[in-house]
Amino acid sequence: METLVGHTIEEMEGIAKALEVPAFRGRQLAAALYGRQVRTWDALTDLPRELRGRLAEQYALAPCHVRSSSAAPDGTVKYLLSLPDDEVIESVFLPYPGRTSVCISSQVGCPMACSFCATGTEGLARNLSAGEIVDQVVQMQALHSERITHVVLMGMGEPLLNYDSVLKAIRLLNNEVGIAMRHITVSTVGVVPNILKLAEEDLQLTLAVSLHAPNDTLRSELVPLNNKYPIARLMEACRAYTDKTKRRITFEYVLMSGVNDTEKEAHELGRLLRAQPLSSVNVIPYNSTDVAPRYKRPTPEAARRFQQIVTSYGVTITQRQERGHRIAAACGQLKRSALRAGSSMRPLPMLTGASSGAG
Ligand code: SAH
Repeated sequence: METLVGHTIEEMEGIAKALEVPAFRGRQLAAALYGRQVRTWDALTDLPRELRGRLAEQYALAPCHVRSSSAAPDGTVKYLLSLPDDEVIESVFLPYPGRTSVCISSQVGCPMACSFCATGTEGLARNLSAGEIVDQVVQMQALHSERITHVVLMGMGEPLLNYDSVLKAIRLLNNEVGIAMRHITVSTVGVVPNILKLAEEDLQLTLAVSLHAPNDTLRSELVPLNNKYPIARLMEACRAYTDKTKRRITFEYVLMSGVNDTEKEAHELGRLLRAQPLSSVNVIPYNSTDVAPRYKRPTPEAARRFQQIVTSYGVTITQRQERGHRIAAACGQLKRSALRAGSSMRPLPMLTGASSGAG
């Protein structure tokens, strides 16, 4: 059954008209679902009971339902959400002083098979619909009093391989849920044609590119898509993106001990990004996973040295939401451990404090 969450206001007006009621009923519906996060038909009291009944014959309200959650003392809550076909995705709620961020998924699984990533081992089950993407935010907002101000697409999946649904969801987040476009971050492994396509949309969103290595040999090992779109082409696409949008791109670099965190790679990265206008790098210590035990977190000294060297090239290092990043990074792991353990989820230890690679 189709869900109402996922439709624009105009589409909801159309749904109202198709049921032969005035268009404003559609606007009321949108305000209730996106603005007040109404989750049950009974709570949809602004619509007449008779109209709710007719709507319910054709539509479900929302696609995401909380299957389990685990909260950390710092306020972070990780959710496993189930979808109408019983697929499961992960979303994370991340409150900070002065802002509240959520990390959401764009696909069930992921086809990119990055060698260090837990989700990558799963393969792709399917794309999420626009409704399933936006509803992760709506569902979490319904459960928390803090106003969600930032959305990052850094959960499961490759957003730029689910382009149309992701773009529709971003517009819904901006127009109906009220998230500022600049506070929406799309993280991509580097799908070059769709970076160029996104540039043409000329949106003020934030683009993050998962680089993870400064040369093609190493990057192809970590990120198989690099065989198709090597670094030179990726950088060219990123330049075109910043030329068009005037927006800074964040390059994500997950540090893995002895793999990509040596001084050699630091110098290569410095040289690569020094030539890249409007760019910054976000260095994140690897979050160990059982699917790729050969990858380990860097030592704090190696992480510090790496950053010193990169900075010496005049490259900006951003220190952004380390907690968010690490939990986002742990996303595939959360689903794995929860599904192995059955529906009752063990609270996972939260990764806060300790070695701050992004410092
Ligand atoms: N497919 C997109 C978005 C999802 S992954 C992308 O690749 O950008 C979000 C980020 O988490 C990516 O930079 C990804 O490489 C990183 N990541 C995945 N597994 C991780 C791990 N175990 N530790 C740290 N970062 C990880």
